[in-house]
Amino acid sequence: MIKIRGLVKTYGKNTVLDGIDLDIEKGEVVALIGPSGTGKSTFLRSINLLEKPDAGELTIDGHTYDLAKISKKDTIAIRRSTAMVFQQFNLFKNRTALENVMEGLTVVKKVPRKEARERALAELRNVGLEAWQDHYPQHLSGGQQQRVGIARALSMDPQLLLLDEPTSALDPERVREVQETIDKAAKEGNTMLLVSHEMGFVRQIATRVLFIDGGKVVEQGAPEQVFSAPKTPRLREFLASFN
Ligand code: ATP
Ligand code: MG
Repeated sequence: MIKIRGLVKTYGKNTVLDGIDLDIEKGEVVALIGPSGTGKSTFLRSINLLEKPDAGELTIDGHTYDLAKISKKDTIAIRRSTAMVFQQFNLFKNRTALENVMEGLTVVKKVPRKEARERALAELRNVGLEAWQDHYPQHLSGGQQQRVGIARALSMDPQLLLLDEPTSALDPERVREVQETIDKAAKEGNTMLLVSHEMGFVRQIATRVLFIDGGKVVEQGAPEQVFSAPKTPRLREFLASFN
């Protein structure tokens, strides 16, 4: 189980995350929804330590870390246990699809090159991109680039996969292939924390939905409950903006 306790992140006087608690069971797919600017990306980035939290504890892989006082060694350990899929893919432009997937394995996990190559190839095969292994990102569609991004994240065998609006930068006709890839990863048992504005997708894939606003978790529950019977006016208002 993954535990987050009292996560606080401020930018100057702006308290973006105001003490967030969250437990995630193995295999759960937790979707984070909420208005723009409410701190969803900041939440994922704080877990992955791409942002430095002001306070908070993270328990993952049997260790509890104080996120406000984290050593370099612990940063690496947390990055090994969590892997991020970015809205803008964030692939290395001068590396092929295969090399992009190998990168984390060789650099972060210190896997020898030959083995990294085999494992990366298996990950590409898993997202249906084996035939594209030698292509550079500029010669791949957005959907293909994002599937490389997902393969790269999954290659780390993360305890928690963080996905920040993985389909929002894609052309509409490419959204489905990436959603299907994520769905497959979920069915394979990967534990996920997903930020998405695609309410249909969230409803379909999430085991639990968390609505955050004003730096706090305002409401959470099973997708049917959150979408069909929202309890708070703020969530009702937010959902109405999608109709
Ligand atoms: P969206 O749905 O638009 O992606 P979000 O919920 O992901 O929004 P964040 O990107 O986490 O929101 O931003 C939350 C708040 O933190 C916003 O007010 C934003 O302006 C602020 N913020 C984010 N990054 C920084 C930064 N590096 N410096 C200062 N303020 C920041
Ligand atoms: Mg965001």
